[in-house]
Amino acid sequence: MENAFQDRHAVGVEDFVLLDDYKSREAFSDNLKKRFQEDLIYTYIRDVLISVNPYKQLPIYDAGHMERYRGQNFYELPPHVFAIADTAYRAVVQEYRDECILISGESGSGKTEASKKILQYIAQTSKRAGNVEEVKEKLLACNPLFEAFGNATTIRNDNSSRFGKYMDIEVGVEGFPIGGHVLDYLLERTRVVHQASGERNFHIFYQILQAEPAMLLKLKLTGKWKDYVYLSQGIMKNSKTSHEEGLEKKWKEEFRAVLSALDAVNFTDEERNDLFSSVAAIMHLGNVQFADNGDTVKLQSNNEASVAASLVGCSADDLIQSLTHRGVHARQDKVLAHLNKEQAVTSRDSLAKAIYAKTFEWLVKRVNAALASRETSRSAVIGLLDIYGFEVFEHNGFEQYCINYCNEKLQQLFIELTLRSEQEEYVVENIPWEPVEYFDNQTICTLIEAKPYGLIPLLDDECLRPGKATDMTYLEKIRERHPNHPHLVIRRDQRQFMIRHYAGDVIYNVDGFLDKNGELLHRDQRELLVRCNNMILKNAFTDQEATSLKRSTSTATQFKQSLAQLMVILKNKDPLYIRCIRPNDVKAARVFSDSVVGHQVKYLGLMENLRVRRAGYAYRRSYEPFLRRYKSLSPTTWPTYKGSAREGVVVLMKHLAIPHDEYAMGKTKVFVRLPRTIFSIEDAFQKR
Ligand code: ATP
Ligand code: MG
Repeated sequence: MENAFQDRHAVGVEDFVLLDDYKSREAFSDNLKKRFQEDLIYTYIRDVLISVNPYKQLPIYDAGHMERYRGQNFYELPPHVFAIADTAYRAVVQEYRDECILISGESGSGKTEASKKILQYIAQTSKRAGNVEEVKEKLLACNPLFEAFGNATTIRNDNSSRFGKYMDIEVGVEGFPIGGHVLDYLLERTRVVHQASGERNFHIFYQILQAEPAMLLKLKLTGKWKDYVYLSQGIMKNSKTSHEEGLEKKWKEEFRAVLSALDAVNFTDEERNDLFSSVAAIMHLGNVQFADNGDTVKLQSNNEASVAASLVGCSADDLIQSLTHRGVHARQDKVLAHLNKEQAVTSRDSLAKAIYAKTFEWLVKRVNAALASRETSRSAVIGLLDIYGFEVFEHNGFEQYCINYCNEKLQQLFIELTLRSEQEEYVVENIPWEPVEYFDNQTICTLIEAKPYGLIPLLDDECLRPGKATDMTYLEKIRERHPNHPHLVIRRDQRQFMIRHYAGDVIYNVDGFLDKNGELLHRDQRELLVRCNNMILKNAFTDQEATSLKRSTSTATQFKQSLAQLMVILKNKDPLYIRCIRPNDVKAARVFSDSVVGHQVKYLGLMENLRVRRAGYAYRRSYEPFLRRYKSLSPTTWPTYKGSAREGVVVLMKHLAIPHDEYAMGKTKVFVRLPRTIFSIEDAFQKR
């Protein structure tokens, strides 16, 4: 892929490889800012697209724009997300190559919007009547569905994805989508029972309250979100309600979209009922309150639990017992121990989280069944990864730790694939390969994941010592194992450890690590769920999983395994990258905060990225288009050159007196070392 012809009238540079001062972060941010202020939100680093969230609708996504980018070469038009989509689509259709588009960036930077635009572009570009449209409808239905169940309003983003998503779009030999597959990562399950101040639960809980009265009646729901503890505890009950009506209207529309999406993926009535019953049961469960009764605990009222039980189809007594007692297994016998109030609250919340997590898991599986292609004429796939970028907050916990580990893995892949493609191009073009120096983050990945003494295996070990291990004993363990690791610093007195990530230092607070990693449902509750009539829950665990006393895989290890799997999937594809940037902290249009952007430029590793791209030749272009544009600069090549395009370019470069070591002639492309050389040629062209 090739970079843009630099139009001297363009604002800033359209490709960062053409930036003079490519080592300066200020120059980098400045270029982004200049362009952002003119509503030019896209800029390239060679084939990496940088996108700055405009926080307003721009008139650049209509059918006309899609048409304009269709079949065009990358560099012939201004940078755009459609150029990326088109490149991937054409590689799949014309060359049967598997492609993947990796989108990363902080919360609110525009990842999900970008992925939706790519999907729309592909759907639009491959228009055809009949069966194809049905497949596309199913693919497009994924968005409202997964957003309802996996997105929520947070401080940073009103529609924040609380899970990572990878989606394969399978394209048939005729160029039309024939199916797809979705993988999900690390759903934020704690949100079901707890939301930070000013934040909300997953959208579906609010949307469902806008259902038709008959459905509400069936689900025993009131229709008011403030009636439900799990829905209102992050938002103060008496908070300003001026935009309340607008919100309800929006939820109502979204719920309608959810219903039609369920139709598009052919949900049966029973499946739909089971899905919504699970959601409603969680809402009722959240309203269960406990009363201290000496050493034991009692429900303040059995009503909510009874309703929840009836919704999922289990006995109310069983449910109540599972909230207030714990079975203790000794050899063949099981005795019931009473829980105290605090334990009962934990038990209620674990059950609610498990029901939601299992429902989400089922939804993904069910959608995948609907997307599975029945055709055998598959040509290739386009993978779309929409996953959280590096997170560095004031307080970083287990979630940030997992997310940042994921970004280390993606960086490793990025370096490997970028250097590989750079090298491959030099080989193909027969140009001497110049090694590029770069930071290999393998040591950091090893520190985190390697058995037996990496941070994750050690965490699992601690989780296996219930009653004895604490977050602090874990911290002590990693200190003992890695006393002088160049990428790890332990601060026991602060209950913290710091990892020197490739993108910068991040301090993690160890509190909650054991709990969050070991998040498990007690056997009593697993057994309860498989006894439910609701088939989502009934099938949530296999019989063996339900009754096993052994632990299932920990959160971190499960995540590690699914990441390893993802790396294999991505490695076998040609990657395209989109790096998204949030311009400010206030979700406002036209505001470009240097500090907010500077921070992201750093943690997205963009400077390193640019440095690698600039190491050899900054600019390359096929002979044909190069000669076509510049042939008027030499009387020998103007108006037409009789020989080959390659020879024409040789003549041209000689005529322009470009020094020999400034460029190289490949088999099909001319390579230019420095941007200023190309600028001088372009200048001459503009002035001619
Ligand atoms: P998270 O990690 O929290 O899921 P995200 O990177 O997926 O965040 P988005 O949900 O895509 O962020 O974008 C946040 C909001 O910013 C959108 O709801 C939309 O209002 C706005 N936005 C993002 N991209 C664009 C765009 N290209 N044009 C207009 N508005 C946009
Ligand atoms: Mg998102």
